[in-house]
Amino acid sequence: MKSVASFIRHRRLRMNENIRSLVRETHLHIDDLIYPFFVIEGTGIKQEVPSMPGVYQYSLDRLHEEMDEVVKLGIRSVLVFGIPAHKDECGSQADDAHGIVQEAIRYLKKEYPSLYVIADTCLCEYTSHGHCGVVENGQVLNDPSLERLVSTAVSQAEAGADMIAPSNMMDGFVYAIREGLDKAGFENVPIMSYAVKYASSYYGPFRDAAQSAPEFGDRRSYQMDPANVREAMREAASDVAEGADVLIVKPGLAYLDVLQRVRERFDLPVVAYNVSGEYSMVKAAAINGWINEKEVVMESMLAFKRAGADLIITYHAKDLARWLKE
Ligand SMILES: [Zn+2]
Repeated sequence: MKSVASFIRHRRLRMNENIRSLVRETHLHIDDLIYPFFVIEGTGIKQEVPSMPGVYQYSLDRLHEEMDEVVKLGIRSVLVFGIPAHKDECGSQADDAHGIVQEAIRYLKKEYPSLYVIADTCLCEYTSHGHCGVVENGQVLNDPSLERLVSTAVSQAEAGADMIAPSNMMDGFVYAIREGLDKAGFENVPIMSYAVKYASSYYGPFRDAAQSAPEFGDRRSYQMDPANVREAMREAASDVAEGADVLIVKPGLAYLDVLQRVRERFDLPVVAYNVSGEYSMVKAAAINGWINEKEVVMESMLAFKRAGADLIITYHAKDLARWLKE
């Protein structure tokens, strides 16, 4: 009988690019990507977000400069964030039929009918205090916030949103929004829930972009403690029970273990949100010549997919679309 080899030659499967590509386990495709963007009330505006090189706020009249490129690159889905001219205590612009996000959705559905338009549904971009819900005596109230959130989601669906993505982390938000959408006749509009959203310092640059930093306190009474993973399973389970169609884990790179656990436990499509801080760190290092931007970004995207993400929300989407074509 032939004895077994004294050691195992793993390198046989790495000897050249042909064999490496034959045995590659994970692939990135342009359809995996969702591109988040910012639309701001006003005219003639194209304003770079200082902490996010390459990311701009556009007013509606110049949004075509961004969307022509997005569509040409082959990106099929976008996530809309709006910055209103007027903010107040209850975020009244959030569910205004002619609010900036509703107008942007209407515009996109008309001018770019091939695009799948996902509406981020929250209040923090619209409230003067910058919190994601209704505030009373320094507390973010759960149930009154749900009412505002439902009405925002319905107004976004009325404007033509293909999908609603509630992000404010109030308890029961999926249940309330599902019920609200169904009652309004939008039973075919899916909910992509920010099911597992941590109170993360990686959101810093986004708050510049969306002008939504909280005026007082922090978001730790509603967003999750970065130390917890079992709690993430409870959060995701409740959203699944309440009728979520797609689950988001946010942020991405520092939470790949959470992403993997969510993937293993639930059968719904799972999305990794590659957040602003992750983007900005890569951009800053690339601008300084300290890393190879393309290779680092591609590696990160593969990491999300390997951990179990079906989809990735990323500010790098346009760059990735170009690189994937090379
Ligand atoms: Zn929010």
